[in-house]
Amino acid sequence: MKLIIHPAKFGNFARLILNRMKTPAWLKQYNILKNQEEYGLKYNFLHFPDAQLAREMLDERDAIIRLLENRVTWTHKSTKADGSGLSEGCRICGEGTWSCLFINGICNSRCFYCPSPQHEVGEPETNSLIFPEPGTYVDYLKEFGFRGVSISGGEPLLTFEKSLSFIQTVRKPLGDAVYIWLYTNGKLFQECPAEKPNSCSPHRLGSTLQKRE
Ligand code: SF4
Repeated sequence: MKLIIHPAKFGNFARLILNRMKTPAWLKQYNILKNQEEYGLKYNFLHFPDAQLAREMLDERDAIIRLLENRVTWTHKSTKADGSGLSEGCRICGEGTWSCLFINGICNSRCFYCPSPQHEVGEPETNSLIFPEPGTYVDYLKEFGFRGVSISGGEPLLTFEKSLSFIQTVRKPLGDAVYIWLYTNGKLFQECPAEKPNSCSPHRLGSTLQKRE
């Protein structure tokens, strides 16, 4: 019988050990299992291109990019054709210096394109590291010199106190050195109390459903 180790069931230390064990074959198997877990029955209907089709698609992409040359200003390490008018969070995202914290795993929407099941509150997580305490998360941000933090989920406003606690704990020592934004579908959004906007608010709200920032 094959033993399948699922990293999501382990703590941060065990994850670090598993990271060191990663080989291309291990990663391939892991990604297959993750996709099967995420898409369930729908996994069987996913169409993955073979090497030949992948090459043809890359050629087609290159041809389109050549047509755009000299007409656009490339940003985000040449992956985005137009970076004008970006928000500060998008700019920091493009630099790769931001941390996306998935504060929970539940949501009050049912978007057909949602990549996760959203059925478990869970613990705040980023890059397979779990942060039950905001203070530990701040240590992590400092250690790696992050310049931006996005609070995502699920829907972060469903665990409002937890989201607020993380935002406040990050803002207190790091102030404006770290730009904070929050992704919400907007259904539960309420204005922060006017008398203390700086203590409880992120720098920006980004809606996952509507343009409401
Ligand atoms: S709002 Fe976001 S987290 Fe919620 S169901 Fe839609 S895509 Fe998923």
